Amino acid sequence: MRYVHYCEPCDARSPERADSHEAAADRDDHRLRAHHGLAPRDYIAEIPGPLAIAGRALVAVLATAARAGARHLAASDAVRQVRASAYWQQAVRLLAIGTGVLVLGAVIVHKML
Ligand SMILES: [Zn+2]
Repeated sequence: MRYVHYCEPCDARSPERADSHEAAADRDDHRLRAHHGLAPRDYIAEIPGPLAIAGRALVAVLATAARAGARHLAASDAVRQVRASAYWQQAVRLLAIGTGVLVLGAVIVHKML
């Protein structure tokens, strides 16, 4: 994070500083020199570093893609047609029967040993 002092009446901007205390020192110095110690409309802004900017952008892109992808998948006609088809229903039934047979076989083998 970097810090910058802005003075709106002067349209002035201090150099970027590594900590807020240095930016506050810039502000105090500017107030003393340009405004005779008075406080103009000014502020110290935080400037995010390149890693923070890239991280926020990545999170925003992933969140948008996840939302759009889930909505698109649920609403797509292809998925609805596959689910409604006899092949899909038969495959689900066979999977359930196959799982049941495997569990039964495992129980029988376990009892025999
Ligand atoms: Zn000023």
